[in-house]
Amino acid sequence: MKKQTQSIRIQTKRSQYREHSTPLFLTSSFCFEDAEQGKALFDETLEGNIYSRFSNPSVQEFVDKVCMLENCEEGLATATGMAAVFAGFAAHLKSGDHVVSSRALFGSAHQILTQILSKWGVTHTYLDATAPESEWEAAVQPNTRMIYLETPSNPGLELVDMAMVGRIAKKHNLIYYVDNCFATPIIHTPTDYGANLIVHSATKFMDGQGRVLGGVITGTKELIAPVRFFCRHTGPSMSPFNAWVLSKSLETLEIRMQRHCENAIKLAKALEKMEGVINVKYPHLPSHPQYELAKKQMKAGGAIVTFELEGGFERVTRFTQKLKIVSLSSNLGDSRTIITNPNTTTHSKLPKEDKVKLGITEGLIRLSVGLEDVSDLIADFKQAAKKSM
Ligand SMILES: *Cc1c(COP(=O)(O)O)cnc(C)c1O
Repeated sequence: MKKQTQSIRIQTKRSQYREHSTPLFLTSSFCFEDAEQGKALFDETLEGNIYSRFSNPSVQEFVDKVCMLENCEEGLATATGMAAVFAGFAAHLKSGDHVVSSRALFGSAHQILTQILSKWGVTHTYLDATAPESEWEAAVQPNTRMIYLETPSNPGLELVDMAMVGRIAKKHNLIYYVDNCFATPIIHTPTDYGANLIVHSATKFMDGQGRVLGGVITGTKELIAPVRFFCRHTGPSMSPFNAWVLSKSLETLEIRMQRHCENAIKLAKALEKMEGVINVKYPHLPSHPQYELAKKQMKAGGAIVTFELEGGFERVTRFTQKLKIVSLSSNLGDSRTIITNPNTTTHSKLPKEDKVKLGITEGLIRLSVGLEDVSDLIADFKQAAKKSM
């Protein structure tokens, strides 16, 4: 069956009530039919639900769908994306280990590597997303255990060549850990390039409607086992309610992503022609510096577009005041189009030299293109560009 069909048809086994839509198992624990069954479940001679910190049918349905979408054997859902990112690190790294990572990371992933794992003796080396194979190779040390990356990056929209990194991970037998939140499995599946641990903030496109927080990590059976142990005993579990919402959302992920991407490329092309708008960046625009790789690696360009407003923060302020439809928020991956000024919000705490390296200028705008009619979006941006000159 095709993935779109499975996204809809993977469902918790129908109960005696013959429900059509999937039920919500909002329960903290599960009953034992007898003392023997309780004993067997705890000594793991019998598989089944015990307590929702460990497992829950609504959560499992969501995980099963993500495993299917990402071509992974097993997975685990968590309360937020960051809980999943952290679980992947914490379950696999010990004092003395080293991580090779792309530099342009989601802010909190950067804080985990630099402020938390460093306290426990885990070191890391950052590389530019666009660094050549020789640099990735040279960054690997005898104690390197993992390669971690995001592609496309936030907010620079730089791509990492996942096949190239896959060769290095394989050669040195490293855990190849990818945050696939920006692209979603609809645009690329990192396991095609040898990645064996994939993480998502389900808060973004998976929910897609800005309602719930969630995270999910999937991978090989072997790599998920320690993550399961870590989560079972430290408790970052996803709420069954959020899992139920997210599982429903996955039914429409493919069609939503298609529309997000169609809108994004049309809007990116229109922005290139607007007054005072410069440096429009989108992976599937020929002007993107890695256009060839983007065409090869990404089925579509994604929902994120960046551009710069001439006139710095003052212009950003005037521009955002003039917008009538588009929201000003720090989130992304919503049916509503959102703009963010990374320099003063999501990336404000970065040192100046890092901002320069990542292309975060005062006038930079990150745009998460939603599902509105694109002609309304283009008109809104056009009038705001003109009136804010
Ligand atoms: C939002 C985001 C996260 C963190 O997810 P939360 O659900 O907010 O904890 C991690 N990685 C990327 C790329 C994100 O965009």
